[in-house]
Order: sequence, then C-alpha cells, then structure tokens
Amino acid sequence: MTVVYADISMRIAVVSDIHSNLPALEAVVASLGDVDRLWILGDIVGYGAEPDGVVERLRDNDAVAVRGNHDHVATGAEGADWFNVTARSAIEWTADTISPSTRGWLSDLPIRREEQGFTLVHGSPRDPLWEYIDDPAVAGAVMPAMTTAWGLFGHTHRPRAFVEDNAAIGEIRVTDGTTLALGESRVLLNPGSVGQPRDGDPRAAYLVLDTEQGRVTWHRVAYDVALAARRIRAAGLPERLAGRLALGV
Ligand code: ZN
Repeated sequence: MTVVYADISMRIAVVSDIHSNLPALEAVVASLGDVDRLWILGDIVGYGAEPDGVVERLRDNDAVAVRGNHDHVATGAEGADWFNVTARSAIEWTADTISPSTRGWLSDLPIRREEQGFTLVHGSPRDPLWEYIDDPAVAGAVMPAMTTAWGLFGHTHRPRAFVEDNAAIGEIRVTDGTTLALGESRVLLNPGSVGQPRDGDPRAAYLVLDTEQGRVTWHRVAYDVALAARRIRAAGLPERLAGRLALGV
C-alpha cells in the first residue's frame, strides 16, 4: 500500500469545541502563522457568549466544518433533552441569540466529511454527533466506520491520539508540542478544545497537520480567560460556565 498524504503539500489547522469562545479562537488564529486551511470538528457554539462572532470569524477564514451536537441542538434540529441543566440553559440562550445567518450556516454543516485522506466528525465515525471516544476500546470499535485510514474527532475536549498497532489500539496522551508521524496505521486524533479545555490546562488546544511531512503536531496557546468569563457573566449565562474556564475542567 502506498501512503498518499495529499495531492499538494499543505499545513492544515484542526480545531474543535470552540463553544462560542471568541477570545480563545482569536488567540488560536493569531498563533497559526501561515496555514492553508482551517478544519473545524464541531461544537462551534454552546456554553460561551459569542456564537455569532465565532461563526463570522470561521466564515471569514473559509473554514471547512462539521456539525457538533451543540450546533445541532442550537439550530432546532433536535431537542435539548440529552443535555444537563447548565448545557441546556446555555443552548436555549444560544438558540434565542444567534442571527438567522448563523443559524443557516450551522444548519448547512454536514455531520461528517472526508478531506485529504481524513474522516472528520465531532463525536465518532459511527455516531458523528453523540458518541464519545474516550478509551482505546471505543476507538477500536469505531475505526471500521471510517472510510479513510486517519480520523479526526472532538467532543471529549481532551487532546488524544489513538493508534492501531497490530490490531491493538494504543492511547497517546498528548501535550503542547507532541508530534506524531502518519503512516499506514489507522489513527483517531483529537485536537482538544479551543473554548473549554477539560484536561486541567486552561490554554486553548489545537493541532496542525503537515501533509508534506505526514506529521501532526499538537499545540496549546494562552488566551484572555478572564475576558471570556466576563462576557459569559455579562450575557447572563450560568456562573459555572465562566468559572470553569480558568481551571480547564
Ligand atoms: Zn463540546
């Protein structure tokens, strides 16, 4: 088998779970340097205070995106029955707040796409909106639902790599600067969350694919957490959503 990374060499930034946190997204975009593409793995809105601002920024950057469960519920495509009380009150606020243009853009997003040898989903390849991939057993169970060797997902808000090796799945906990070479093995990669990290590190998380070198690198970038928290409080959203940002939980 020949490994084909892409038709042309590119640097692609992959981000997930922005959750209406514009200060975090701005910091990520400012730190990217020259990248050729921006891929978004869903949960663009929900929790944070600036859904329209975030969507506008992504549209300005011609982002290629899939829909997350929060985006899905914010557009009215499904009820908020699966959400806890805090998430529900934030998604109801979001649904009432977003502009018709934001709602239309979110509604048009597919739940899965294939780009340059990667499957892009929010949750998992077999249940793109809702399933969490949080351990090697689940990663192994969902890999057959990929139509490419490499998959990108979000939803757990924790940066991770799951790598198939002789039919066993290994889990790599990644940190700022971790790199992984892509080969013939199947992989499922999570960039972590831009707008609400849950791995104890409050910095925004993302990854960059280098299609020429066949390499993935994870990154963290500090942003103005206090500003994002102030905007959440000013919008009248639940206090817990403001307080958790500084803790990265
Ligand atoms: Zn999320």
